[in-house]
Amino acid sequence: MSTKDVSIQEKQENLNVLESTQQVFLEALKKLGYTQEMYELLKEPLRILTVRFPVTMDDGSVKVFTGFRAQHNDAVGPTKGGIRLHPDVTQDEVVALSMWMSVKCGIANLPYGGGKGGIICDPREMSFSEIERLSRAYVRAISQIVGPAKDIPAPDVFSNSQNMAWMFDEYSRIKESDSPGFITGKPTVLGGSLGRERATARGVAICIEEACKVKSIQIEKARVCIQGFGNAGSYLAKFMHDIGAKVVGISDAYGALYNEKGLDIDELLERRDSFGSVTKLYRNTISNRELLESECDILVPAAIENQITLENADKIKASIIVEAANGPTTMPATEILDKKNVLIVPDVLGNSGGVIVSYFEWVQNNQGFYWTEEDIDQKLKNLMQKSFHTVYSTAQKFKVNMRLAAYIVGVKRMAEAVRWRGWI
Ligand code: GLU
Repeated sequence: MSTKDVSIQEKQENLNVLESTQQVFLEALKKLGYTQEMYELLKEPLRILTVRFPVTMDDGSVKVFTGFRAQHNDAVGPTKGGIRLHPDVTQDEVVALSMWMSVKCGIANLPYGGGKGGIICDPREMSFSEIERLSRAYVRAISQIVGPAKDIPAPDVFSNSQNMAWMFDEYSRIKESDSPGFITGKPTVLGGSLGRERATARGVAICIEEACKVKSIQIEKARVCIQGFGNAGSYLAKFMHDIGAKVVGISDAYGALYNEKGLDIDELLERRDSFGSVTKLYRNTISNRELLESECDILVPAAIENQITLENADKIKASIIVEAANGPTTMPATEILDKKNVLIVPDVLGNSGGVIVSYFEWVQNNQGFYWTEEDIDQKLKNLMQKSFHTVYSTAQKFKVNMRLAAYIVGVKRMAEAVRWRGWI
């Protein structure tokens, strides 16, 4: 590789999450034959709200928190996407995540544009009642721009069905009307869908099955490493274990466990806490980095952004990567892995099971009639398989990798909706 190529790669690697998202949007729109005007509209959200709100802490002091809600584009329908509670949340990240939601919804053909929210906070260091006050205060701050036909939040990193329940309750009080369709990922007694909790992992598992077929790998004999043991990672470990695959590695924010003979997943599930931490209880841990580079056939990054980079892409041994986290692989790393013939199922496809079942939840809330778990699982399977093969065949047709193909499929409908509405 020439020095010039190396410096281009390094430049790309250093782009922030928003800049690299914009780059793929631009490429996808170009492949579809759209002009610069369409890119100008879609390169950023239509609306971004920043809110600051006070929350009384248990010791009586008052802390001011900052939150965001980004609504990328509502040409297709109301915007949709989770709320992230994390100390590292930034506006650029929330914006990029809202754009990824647009792509996800486009691939699965859901009648939504993308949205995303975030609060800069560390729920691991807050009490239950502090998190309740924080959740409610955030909803009060954003209530004017969200709603069942406007923008529908859901869980994301470190938020769960309890946060959704408080937010739903707060919103219904503000509107003086029971509004289950305002938010998804609720507990089932409050109108949540059966199967929502494990939907992201189910979707990832379906992608793994399809990717194995394409790569002629027998899933029952495959060795799987999963980075992250939160909602997606832990359910996925269970699904993989149950179908007979060997889960050889898992990790959390503090370290990783690897055993070539397979890990005792049931024990790990039993011992994990509600934020997905478990490795602290074990000796002989390895680092997250070592886990990514260890021997396996299928690697599933299910934690946070920028885990597979220029630094380690070359050392990855897996032949299939299914991205359960949002944005775990940088663009230059994707190129290196492409050259090694690794099949990457990108995040916007790999983890779309969550928003797909969120959509089913919203439909059930709107129609007031609830489907069985079998109904949900079957509908999810059909949609995931269809999404996988649409992206796969688009990659073949345009001779591009799965990531760009996913963006081509995902932005197409949004751009068409923009045209039909006469915005451009
Ligand atoms: N936070 C999830 C995601 O990034 C789910 C979003 C939703 O259900 O709306 O896809």
